[in-house]
Amino acid sequence: MKSTSDTAVPRNILGAKGKTDSELALQYTTQFLLSAFAANQFPKPGVPEIAFLGRSNVGKSSLLNALVGERAARVSQTPGRTRAINFFKLVDAAEKSRMIFADLPGYGYAKISKSISAEWGKFIDPYLAERDTLALCVCLVDSNVPPKESDRQLMDWLRAAGRDFVVAATKIDRLSGNERTKSLAALKVAFETDEILPVSAKTGYGLKELWGRIERAAKEK
Ligand code: GDP
Repeated sequence: MKSTSDTAVPRNILGAKGKTDSELALQYTTQFLLSAFAANQFPKPGVPEIAFLGRSNVGKSSLLNALVGERAARVSQTPGRTRAINFFKLVDAAEKSRMIFADLPGYGYAKISKSISAEWGKFIDPYLAERDTLALCVCLVDSNVPPKESDRQLMDWLRAAGRDFVVAATKIDRLSGNERTKSLAALKVAFETDEILPVSAKTGYGLKELWGRIERAAKEK
């Protein structure tokens, strides 16, 4: 069992980094909505949704923690909920619902088709393919690890489905400047995209840019 203390991410990471970031984070309060294990359990479509996808251990809980708070990360790592799509509502100061974050199950080290085929076919695939309110998929890849076939598969699938997605290269704080450049270049080639945002849940690096991309996608929806 994982606990959020494993992630060693400061609670107020955005606030610690600077005014603009903390303003972005404080704009919203996060409320857990539900865990869906089947398509008929998805929340009623309404506000724009942002999906978070990545292999297990990529740093998804830590990033969610840094973006919207510890509670979201904790719920998503609760045993039994790790195989669900966990939905969170982001409400503004006037208690108005502004967007929904959907935390998708982490996929394994094997190819997607093998490792999570049952869940994928049952409700993850329908969610990604058919959800009208889905505005953006944030695909997390570990910047410390060479490009993985399973990630590539996912991105090919999203492209074929016509989904807008952005790649977030996690744990960028672990790399030196030169290593960063190399890693990002390799990821761009492997995933055939120019849009890779380096991020660190630990230092807060890149979170402002990621928030900007999320806000833009939500507004355009
Ligand atoms: P998940 O399985 O995708 O939810 O991954 P976690 O958020 O649990 O993170 C997996 C491991 O990577 C943990 O040991 C975290 O402490 C570590 N980690 C996550 N994000 C970062 C980061 O930005 N920087 C560093 N250095 N480590 C990180």
